[in-house]
Amino acid sequence: MGKVFDVAIVGGGVIGSSIAYQLAKSGKKVVILEKSSLACQASSAAAGMLAAQAEIEQDGPFFQLALKSQSMFPLIASELLEYTGIDIEFVNKGMLKIAETEEMAAALKKQVAFQRSWDSSIQWLDSKELQHMESNLAPTIVGAMYLPNDGHVQPAKLSLAFAKAAAHFGAEIRENTEVVSFVYENGRIAGVKTSEEEIHCEQVVVASGAWAAKILRETGMDLTIYPVKGECFSVKPEKPLINTTIFSDKRCYFVPKRNGEVYIGATVVENTFENNVTAGGIATLIERAMKIVPQITNAKWERVWSGIRPQTGDGIPYIGEHPVWSGLFVAAGHFRNGILLSPLTGIVVAQLLNGSLQDNQFLTAFRLDRKREMVY
Ligand SMILES: Cc1cc2nc3c(=O)[nH]c(=O)nc-3n(C[C@H](O)[C@H](O)[C@H](O)COP(=O)(O)OP(=O)(O)OC[C@H]3O[C@@H](n4cnc5c(N)ncnc54)[C@H](O)[C@@H]3O)c2cc1C
Repeated sequence: MGKVFDVAIVGGGVIGSSIAYQLAKSGKKVVILEKSSLACQASSAAAGMLAAQAEIEQDGPFFQLALKSQSMFPLIASELLEYTGIDIEFVNKGMLKIAETEEMAAALKKQVAFQRSWDSSIQWLDSKELQHMESNLAPTIVGAMYLPNDGHVQPAKLSLAFAKAAAHFGAEIRENTEVVSFVYENGRIAGVKTSEEEIHCEQVVVASGAWAAKILRETGMDLTIYPVKGECFSVKPEKPLINTTIFSDKRCYFVPKRNGEVYIGATVVENTFENNVTAGGIATLIERAMKIVPQITNAKWERVWSGIRPQTGDGIPYIGEHPVWSGLFVAAGHFRNGILLSPLTGIVVAQLLNGSLQDNQFLTAFRLDRKREMVY
């Protein structure tokens, strides 16, 4: 059988779709194979924060990947609007990472000092300054790291826009198509098998999020990628309660969306693929949320949802080629930051496949055969 596609991408979440977009734009003949529907898993459950500085607290390749990817959103937003007509609802009104105790305040002040070496607009706000900025925050909040340049997007729209932009450049999208195995030929990967057929191609990218480890096992690769469920809810207050994203280390954040909805997340339930919302999970979240923004009590209830984050053994994603089977690539394990990391992941994976990656060293930290004990 002749080669039908240059590249087959396994998984139609934000990572697979971003890679497909960049590859299709570079002239590759691409197919996205998605077992259910586009963006049906983590990529539509996310809050959409682009929280490089709030989530990552030390310098290294992961932090640099996050910062660079974050800086690409204004351009990606306008590109995707141009090619697809989809507005990814990029909002750039900043974030407050709050301290609820004096101890947390001391730690956060050190973070401010570190983060200012990358962005001098980042500053510490004391409780009085905080109240001036966000009057609905509980007065007990001690202070906050203010990140004026932080933003967020509508994650499902971002993911679908990447896929639609890929289609604009000729990519084919096959939903309800589960990849069950690979095609091997002359010591390299030559395609994938679905339950219906074999699809031949030059290169395959596994971008199937929390499900990536399972399919890779037959290739002799035992990657540590495991599921971490997150539950969220949203409210729609009559008048805006907050303007900036509010982020607490105590597993609670508020993201005020453009349509007036406030997303509140998220629980952390390890090692389950059960994508359900529990009363206990939401009760814990509401309790935390009311301590931070008490007025949330009066806001109109909107909805609940959950999603499965793809976590890795050392907390950073796998991005690279299979050490044994050439032609097979992986981009998975973006855990809590896949939305943030999607633009740059798409670009570096496309460059890797095209052989045009300038700085291969940049990807060393993310390679599939890295040592678990390495710290990034
Ligand atoms: C509650 C919650 C809040 C979050 N908040 C944020 C946030 O604010 N900011 C941020 O940056 N990130 C956030 N994240 C993380 C982010 O959602 C993920 O990192 C990102 O969506 C991962 O994208 P992905 O494409 O790798 O995985 P997914 O979106 O899970 O996509 C994988 C796709 O692969 C498909 N698939 C699986 N196996 C196969 C197969 N064998 N064949 C074909 N298809 C297959 C699945 O059906 C799925 O559609 C959050 C996640 C959750 C759950």
